[in-house]
Amino acid sequence: MLRKKINIIGAGLCGSLISILMAKRGYDVVVREKRSDPRMNYGPAGRSINLAMSAKGINALRYTGIFDEVEHLLMPMKGRMLHLQDGRTDLQPYGQFDHEFIYSVSRLKLNHLLIDKAEKLGVELKFGHSVEKFDDSGIYFNSDGTPYVLPAESVIIADGAGSKIRKSYDQHKPIMPSEDILPHSYKELTIPANDDGSFKVSERALHVWPRGQFMLIALPNPDGDFTLTLFMPTKGNISFDVLRNNIEVEEFFETFFPDTLDLIPNISEQFFRNPTGLLGTVRCNHWHHNDKFILMGDAAHAMVPFHAQGMNSAFDDCIVFDSIISKEFSDWKEVFQKFEKKQKKNADAIQAMALDNYIEMRDGVLDSKFALKKELSFELERRMPSHFIPRYSMVMFHESIPYSVSYKRGEIQKEILNELTEQVSKISEIDLEYAENILKERLDPL
Ligand code: FAD
Repeated sequence: MLRKKINIIGAGLCGSLISILMAKRGYDVVVREKRSDPRMNYGPAGRSINLAMSAKGINALRYTGIFDEVEHLLMPMKGRMLHLQDGRTDLQPYGQFDHEFIYSVSRLKLNHLLIDKAEKLGVELKFGHSVEKFDDSGIYFNSDGTPYVLPAESVIIADGAGSKIRKSYDQHKPIMPSEDILPHSYKELTIPANDDGSFKVSERALHVWPRGQFMLIALPNPDGDFTLTLFMPTKGNISFDVLRNNIEVEEFFETFFPDTLDLIPNISEQFFRNPTGLLGTVRCNHWHHNDKFILMGDAAHAMVPFHAQGMNSAFDDCIVFDSIISKEFSDWKEVFQKFEKKQKKNADAIQAMALDNYIEMRDGVLDSKFALKKELSFELERRMPSHFIPRYSMVMFHESIPYSVSYKRGEIQKEILNELTEQVSKISEIDLEYAENILKERLDPL
């Protein structure tokens, strides 16, 4: 029988959801969190303010039995609204069926709700308790200047991308972590609501201003405003590095995003007030060390945000872990091993797809063949849904298709789409019967 007491580090999105699931399974759960109680303040500036939630996230909330309570926080987004440099706009639906949309959700409100729920279920939440280091003798904490040590026994570590525990491992120990920092960074700005509280642009879409090496995106918030994020190289000719004063920032927006100037008041003031955040991918050879601890969510596999799956995959981790412990096990090492075996290949796959998607969002959508390939993908999905679902749709709308499967099938599908569109400019020029035969030959039914 497994011990019925569990320590969790981090009360972010992953730590608070897993604490709920463990409490529901009858464990005594203690969560230690570095921050003060986020319900008493508005959270650290510069963290992504709102997030896109899709099938795996929704599925995890349903599995946990809390979707109905979260639903009022969710704003549906049907597609990407592209804002081209000449001012034209183009709404590209994410999927082709009515149920295929994603949601925008406030990180803070979702985190508050999860923490409230955990507390109601009897989870003990210790705010202001920070992990300082880890070694074989235990996990070292500090609370208000008072140090203490906990034994490292079956601890769930969900302390985010900068995980101190992960970082206390070097290349010679089992975790073998590595961090690939992207040479692009991000900065958040706000498009405020109109005076009457209405939205300045359509709230039914995720807005994208693709500009090749850089882009702006905007997600709606229920209060009528949008969170706008500029993704751009950290250094170089067009980069955060060269925008050093108000004039340079205003000229940059006038040149590349002229249609946003009316939407964002005091753009340069916001630009210099808000921090610039780093983006990167965290990889580990292993997520656990014997039965001492398991890394979960960003602590194990932080990724760049361009497939909007960091939270979704962290939530998927939580329910996979829960389904493993719902069976009888003799020790935690076995649980941790099973969890890692099931999820690590999925994390590797979504990390790779997230990196691919950055190129698609800022550049690929401008490619003349992009629209044709998308149209053909939807046609093939309508004709042969058992063999072909666009990769984006597999990731965003199909909770039961693991990321590793979406990635593998997506690579084969990409080759097929390239081949079929190579010599043509319209879908009517493609032999769709031939296309169906290729699908049957190269892809097993889902
Ligand atoms: P976190 O949310 O980072 O939580 C970690 C917690 O641990 C925090 O509360 C922190 O205070 C605490 N902690 C840290 N250090 C310590 C310590 N030493 N001791 C104790 N506690 C500690 N994902 C999506 O699914 N959709 C999106 O649209 C999306 N957009 C994003 C946009 C941006 C710009 C970024 C940067 C990320 C985005 N993500 C998105 C990713 C998402 O934010 C993360 O994947 C998600 O927050 C991971 O949850 P987590 O609980 O693992 O980590």
